[in-house]
Amino acid sequence: MATGRFAPSPTGALHLGNLRTALVAWLAARSSGGRFLVRMEDLDPAVARREHEAGQLSDLAALGLDWDGVVERQSTRADVYGAAISRLAEQGLVYPCFCSRREIRAAVSAPNGSSPEGAYPGTCRMLTPAEVASMTVSGRRPALRLRTTGEPVTVTDILHGPYTAAVDDFVLRRQDGMSAYNLAVVVDDAAQGVEQVVRADDLLPSTPRQVYLARLLGLPAMSYLHIPLVLGPTGQRLAKRDGSVTLADRMAIGETSEEVRGALGLSLGLCLAGERPSVADLLAVFDARALPRSPWVFPG
Ligand code: GLU
Repeated sequence: MATGRFAPSPTGALHLGNLRTALVAWLAARSSGGRFLVRMEDLDPAVARREHEAGQLSDLAALGLDWDGVVERQSTRADVYGAAISRLAEQGLVYPCFCSRREIRAAVSAPNGSSPEGAYPGTCRMLTPAEVASMTVSGRRPALRLRTTGEPVTVTDILHGPYTAAVDDFVLRRQDGMSAYNLAVVVDDAAQGVEQVVRADDLLPSTPRQVYLARLLGLPAMSYLHIPLVLGPTGQRLAKRDGSVTLADRMAIGETSEEVRGALGLSLGLCLAGERPSVADLLAVFDARALPRSPWVFPG
């Protein structure tokens, strides 16, 4: 029995890739007899919109997916994330970083740079208190980064198997004061009693960071199931430009929610073309280990 969750960002209507992830997360939780939670990852006020939440929840319901308890919102939990950062700071594991994105890009692409792609090169790690003070006086607002050992961390994913990456000094709080995704997700999954994380596999590279952080905070380990992305006809990840990609779009061209569920089930190898399975039918045949290991190219 494992508590699972679906954690969308309410930045627009869910597309078929998001709905497919939600379906797998629901099947994985319910097939184990576990609870299924929905959490709105609405930390970024520049893109998260309250009005999208209702639409996302009604799409889940239209596909037959139900959830337990209230829908949590990350935007209400700044204090909890702040408390986690304070705990890490007390252990000397947090430092201010004044680098702009451009500076980080330049440092990482410098000819002698030996950091893995996208990893923070550690520029601000050794700033003295006097340097921090003078940067602060000059008006630059720092992000807060975790001081890591840089060691490789291996996570074992149900579909991908072992995945190893060196953990860099990643951001805990952004320059604009917003808690970073990696911090919020780790704190929330533990606080909500989540045991099983199901999401798209573009987030697999962030998972070693999350495991490392959870260990530092003394939080329980999760099991991970990262689903291969859904691609559009051009081979890039599915997006609005690919046509009728939301549930509302599909219904506008005459499909029913049962047909959409059938298409998602077919893409997951859980039913045959033309079938209209109920969620109970899908549940009866669901086996996380037998899910497809390559992306689904949306036929349009
Ligand atoms: N909010 C993230 C997204 O919509 C998912 C994060 C997660 O499941 O950990 O892509």
